[in-house]
Amino acid sequence: MFRIETEKELLSAFRSRDRKFVELPKGTRVPLFIRDYLAWVDPYGVRVFLVFTAPGAQRPTGIAFRRDQQGDKTSATGVCDWCRAAGASDQIGLLTTDVDSKRRVGVNVCLDLRCGEKLEAAANLSGRSVLDDNRQLIERMARFASEALGIEFSSDA
Ligand SMILES: [Zn+2]
Repeated sequence: MFRIETEKELLSAFRSRDRKFVELPKGTRVPLFIRDYLAWVDPYGVRVFLVFTAPGAQRPTGIAFRRDQQGDKTSATGVCDWCRAAGASDQIGLLTTDVDSKRRVGVNVCLDLRCGEKLEAAANLSGRSVLDDNRQLIERMARFASEALGIEFSSDA
């Protein structure tokens, strides 16, 4: 659980190159109390935003993704890299983000980033606790941010 006090704080979680794309979800009210992570899709369905707090970090990290491929229900199913849910390619596909002005990286995940809800539903069915699954999910997000984007998580407040 973490808390974001102001819209400015939410925006400042994103890298400066991402900030110009960030459109807060309609009706965002601060402070925001976020249990595991916050994800939302822009009104055009083109950009997907993620805010999470890496293990041990004091400040949240934001990533602005773009959906580069159009969903196509007829093609094969895929598996989300982050929550391991399986789905058709209109549900699971490539989200990309800029590393710098020359490079983009992608990750194959749930296109709406509702990984947490899927983990919860799966855990409810099996009667397991979702805590471990959620921890792994956040660790995978953090690994992507640090390995693919070179984001460093400061442990200073
Ligand atoms: Zn997922």
